[in-house]
Amino acid sequence: MPQDCIFCKIVAGDIKATKLYQDESVTVFKDINPQAPTHILVIPNQHIEAISEASPEDQVILGKLMLTAAHIAREESVADNGYRLVVNNGRDGGQTVFHLHVHLLAGRPMRWPPG
Ligand code: 5GP
Ligand code: ZN
Repeated sequence: MPQDCIFCKIVAGDIKATKLYQDESVTVFKDINPQAPTHILVIPNQHIEAISEASPEDQVILGKLMLTAAHIAREESVADNGYRLVVNNGRDGGQTVFHLHVHLLAGRPMRWPPG
């Protein structure tokens, strides 16, 4: 794992986070700076820098991230009202942490177009 990756350290338990779920391939935790009443991050345990860096071998883990996000949304009781899944990529996409993550945002109406 890259030495300086915050999210790899959260996966390993070296940095504290409010973890909601973890298994052999994914980790789910609360965002430290929530942008909605529910703001949860779903990440692969393996370090993938960004969706633009994912390869065909990552197909299974990419599917798992989406299915896990939907599962967590049900568990957190936000599925009925609706929610938004976001993957920021690169500079103009607003990505600030270069370990792939899916944002699960819910608990308020989301605007469109996004900022
Ligand atoms: P990005 O801007 O890369 O799409 O999203 C990165 C997200 O990670 C941001 O929403 C930010 O608040 C969150 N974040 C950054 N550092 C930490 C941390 O140390 N712990 C947690 N729980 N979230 C973090
Ligand atoms: Zn990482």
